[in-house]
Parts: sequence; C-alpha cells; structure tokens
Amino acid sequence: MSQKSFVFIKPDGVQRRLVGEIIKRFEEAGLTIGALQMQEPDKATISKHYPLDNREYLLGLGHRDTNGMSEEELEQLYQKNYKIVRALQEYVGSGPIVKMILEGRDDTVEYVRSIVGKTDPAASPKGTIRGDFGVDSFAQSDKEGRSVRNVVHASGTPEEAEAEIKLWFEV
Ligand code: ADP
Repeated sequence: MSQKSFVFIKPDGVQRRLVGEIIKRFEEAGLTIGALQMQEPDKATISKHYPLDNREYLLGLGHRDTNGMSEEELEQLYQKNYKIVRALQEYVGSGPIVKMILEGRDDTVEYVRSIVGKTDPAASPKGTIRGDFGVDSFAQSDKEGRSVRNVVHASGTPEEAEAEIKLWFEV
C-alpha cells in the first residue's frame, strides 16, 4: 500500500530559492507529489504543528535520547525546548512555506526522512537535503538560544504524517 508523508519547505528554503532543487530531489528519488501549495502559514496551524502545551512533545524534540535523565535534567531540557519551540513558531511563521504530500512507496515516511537527513544540518550526511543545503547547526543555534534552520520539515512517523496531512490540507 502506498504510504503518504507530509513535507514543507521552511521559509529559509523558500527565501534561498531552493524550492525547485528540493522538489527535484524527491521526484528523482521516485516519489510522487500528491499535493503541493505555497502559503503564508497562520499562527493557529503552526502552534498545532509545533505545540507548546505538550510536555512529551517538547521533551522529544530533536530526537535526543532522554533515557536515564534525572527529573532535574528533564526539567532543564523542557525549559530549553520550550524556548526553542517558541522560536521555531516564529521562524516557520516568518514567510511563505511550500507544503506537499509525497507518496508512492510502502515506506514513504522513512524514505523521505532518509532523503532529508537529520534534524541538525551539521550532522546530516552529504547527499541529503539538510546535509547539502543546511548552513546552520545545533552548535550555532544553541549558542543563540533559537531553533535550528534546516530548510525542510518531514513527518517522523506514519501516524504523524496522517495527522499533519489533516492539519495542513484538511483532507
Ligand atoms: P525534525 O524536524 O527533524 O523532525 P523535530 O520535530 O524534533 O525535528 O523538531 C522540530 C524542529 O525544531 C526541527 O526541524 C528544528 O528546526 C528545531 N529543533 C529541534 N530540536 C532542536 C534543538 N535541539 N536545537 C535547535 N533547534 C531544534
């Protein structure tokens, strides 16, 4: 069964004129575009996509391992990630994005993530979108207390993809 994933090109990707190059990579990898639209994202949609009122979501941000952390360390991480998500909401709301549904494989979500790379562009291999086009890093964004600019968003799991497609495309 063909699985769907949800992707958007973040404002830095649009401003840097990377839209064509990014779409080309997905198509050349054999994926089909099921829907595609540019929009100025509204605050309500952004805060549902990146929620500030969900502790579990905030602790899981950036896919870092929280196993074995003390209560105090978890609280520090929560406070840090709360600030990151507040900055993230502003970053994603700072200009037009290009949202899309990608489909065509049984493992579309995982496959798209392999094309996109890791959350931190500096840790993303060459040949991935974030590895090739990302000019930011956790090291830099941590120093400045903000979210990392990494060009694209891609769903992390099939369940996330389903919820995100509903949120952004109302299907
Ligand atoms: P991804 O987009 O790779 O799935 P998350 O969903 O965990 O990553 O985080 C959402 C976004 O928040 C990331 O794309 C990135 O822009 C930002 N972000 C996540 N973790 C961090 C972090 N530790 N420092 C700075 N920015 C972060």
